[in-house]
Amino acid sequence: MTFKDLDVAAPILSALEKKGYTSPTPIQEQAIPILLAGKDLMGCAQTGTGKTAAFAIPIIQHLHNDPKRRKQKRAIKALVVTPTRELAIQIQENFTEYGAFADIRTAVVFGGVKQNAQVNTLKNGVDVLIATPGRLLDLMNQGFISLRDVTYFVLDEADQMLDMGFVNDIKKLLTKLPKQRQSLFFSATMPAPIVKLSNEILGHYERVTIQPQQTTAERVEQGLFFVNKSDKPELLSHIINTRKPASVLVFTRTKHGADKVVKYLSRVNITAAAIHGNKSQNQRQAALSAFKDGKIKVLIATDIAARGIDVSELELVINYDLPNVPETYVHRIGRTGRASASGASLSFCDAEEKPYLKDIEKLIKQTVPVLDHPFAEAFEDRPSAPAKKQNSRSRQGVHNGNKGEKSKKPKWRGPRRGSS
Ligand code: AMP
Repeated sequence: MTFKDLDVAAPILSALEKKGYTSPTPIQEQAIPILLAGKDLMGCAQTGTGKTAAFAIPIIQHLHNDPKRRKQKRAIKALVVTPTRELAIQIQENFTEYGAFADIRTAVVFGGVKQNAQVNTLKNGVDVLIATPGRLLDLMNQGFISLRDVTYFVLDEADQMLDMGFVNDIKKLLTKLPKQRQSLFFSATMPAPIVKLSNEILGHYERVTIQPQQTTAERVEQGLFFVNKSDKPELLSHIINTRKPASVLVFTRTKHGADKVVKYLSRVNITAAAIHGNKSQNQRQAALSAFKDGKIKVLIATDIAARGIDVSELELVINYDLPNVPETYVHRIGRTGRASASGASLSFCDAEEKPYLKDIEKLIKQTVPVLDHPFAEAFEDRPSAPAKKQNSRSRQGVHNGNKGEKSKKPKWRGPRRGSS
């Protein structure tokens, strides 16, 4: 299957070729024909499946083919609403790339920065607007944005929108959208409130489901370290020094925690940067660019800040803190092993985090293999801990979920005692 087989127009084919995309991903293969036919779509898919191109390509093509567009002043014809600034920037970059030869003008608006530059871009006329909900409503209230001409509406990462408390903003937005439109709704998970919201947005729709969350968990190699909270910093530097990953994204639960990790790593001569909500947009972008360019190998992030991170060939994700929402674990490890690449994820679990681990393993229907490490001996409250005298090698991979069954060694080699 090629993009040409999907009837993608020539200028877009050239742009995709320039990007090095040779064939469509499964969601693109299924969604593009539905969207080119003008139907509404519910896409159950997460970031990393190629879903941005799945919705951007047909929208660009519709705009490109619209004979009226050239004669009129540019007006916002397509609106993409997404929960975070990083994701918004990423989506705009993609629209700009895929539409490079199709005369498409895009703009992105998000909060946390001054609005002047965004307003000026809007005044010049845009075809596609990518926005986070708060700033969008704000600029609409000030009269800088009109949704009167919107014909294509995309709600991206709907489950994350609800988690982040955007539901009222979305409802307000819906009242301002023209009734006559094509609507696209994307969510990684489909709990009841999301299905309800989708019913308010979509007309008669077709559904495409790609890679349910569990398959990410299957694709990414996972390992678990039971470790005391106080030993986490040293375990992190140990892993970075022994595995020497080309790129590692480290998740902490709090912004303060992220800053503390950066400071610790700098003391042990490991350069790292943090991105989280307390950093300015410029700082975040600078850190992200340095990470993407390989100038910084270690990026520390909180969950919300990490939503839009798209780094191809991210080698390793480390859950420095386990998330208390199990779906977040799947989102996090989905940062590695994107598109067709495979990746690894290592999680630190201290005694207090064990209930979170239980929820995660229930969700992914897997038991994450336990790996040995230099601080394992010190761990208090190690589950099903073997007798104290047992050597470290025999402890490796004990946590395989089948009570009484002898554990098997994990496929890949995590750091071990004496390995550094
Ligand atoms: P997304 O799910 O939209 O965030 O895309 C995940 C990653 O896959 C991004 O880095 C895209 O640039 C990349 N990608 C999307 N479609 C294709 C394709 N057909 N071939 C190769 N890479 C792709």
